Amino acid sequence: MNTINQNTFMDLEPFVFEGIDKDKPLIISGPCSAESREQMLETARGVAKTGVKIFRAGIWKPRTKPGGFEGIGLRGLLWMNEVKRETGLLLATEVANRDHVNAALDAGIDILWIGARTSANPFAVQEIANALQGHPDVSVLVKNPVNPDLELWIGALQRIHNAGIRRLGAIHRGFSTYGQHLFRNEPQWHIPIELHRRLNGLPILCDPSHMGGRRELIGPLSQQALDMGFDGLMIESHCNPDEALSDSKQQITPESLNIILSNLVIRDIHISTENLSVLRREIDRCDTDLLELLNRRMRVCREIGVFKKEHNMQVVQAQRYDDIMNERCQQAEELGMSGSFMATVMQAIHEESVRQQIEVFHSNQ
Ligand code: PEP
Ligand code: MN
Repeated sequence: MNTINQNTFMDLEPFVFEGIDKDKPLIISGPCSAESREQMLETARGVAKTGVKIFRAGIWKPRTKPGGFEGIGLRGLLWMNEVKRETGLLLATEVANRDHVNAALDAGIDILWIGARTSANPFAVQEIANALQGHPDVSVLVKNPVNPDLELWIGALQRIHNAGIRRLGAIHRGFSTYGQHLFRNEPQWHIPIELHRRLNGLPILCDPSHMGGRRELIGPLSQQALDMGFDGLMIESHCNPDEALSDSKQQITPESLNIILSNLVIRDIHISTENLSVLRREIDRCDTDLLELLNRRMRVCREIGVFKKEHNMQVVQAQRYDDIMNERCQQAEELGMSGSFMATVMQAIHEESVRQQIEVFHSNQ
């Protein structure tokens, strides 16, 4: 079991900013890309009206194919500063190399984020980390790599942490898959949950815009993220989403943003009722029973292994495995549980049973 890093990240500073309520989810919003001074100011005014305090905009855009809008470049930083002067919003932008970091720091950007294509590349992340050395006051958010690789995500966070950044957080924006699916990027929620377990104390935001890829998924995904205990949201907004030069299908107007934010139910994680403790103790008992049962099942498997070895039989009997899978999935469904969930559980159990029997085959038992 990998338990590294827990201590490495003990010295994080709270991801809080003056004037922003630290007990509420942290919301960052603004356009996918800075396109024009007017678009930036109009969007920022709308965002400020919703009560959101942090404005995002991409100045340098990593596009899948050449020929798309690759970002407005340095000019965008001037517009961002105008946004800050006029609205008082804090500023966030994406950096992908040393030059971006230097330009963004010179321009007084408050939060830098590392995008999903960049966090998948240790060379690029290290270059960014080196450029951040000596700037401990900047806040940095690291998006998950495009591929579902938790270690790569943690590695990127470690590189930034090693550079002395203590106001550090992660953004879960889902993972790429081949082909068309409901989500532009699959949530695979278990991955940020595991990140939270491993790096307890690291704030994790959710980006429902890149995850869903469609306006109508932003509300439900935001609610789901908050229900799961995420610390905030990054949501793309644009004064005229249909005309946006990038990600137009997933951008919403500041007015829609306001509706989504006002409808979010914010649950209080600090409340722990007596009823909940009773139920949690019941869960602990169920888990103990499950462990004992699994242990018994594995012992029987090893005995079967001894029998198979003595009778010169193969470990894996395909027909038997197939029968078990079908029967258990059907039994699960009869009990009102999901058959595909049971298939996943049985696959894991079967894999371990085979491993146990192979161990028996190789031992002198
Ligand atoms: C973005 O935030 O605009 C962006 C490019 O996101 P991602 O890195 O998650 O694709
Ligand atoms: Mn985008």
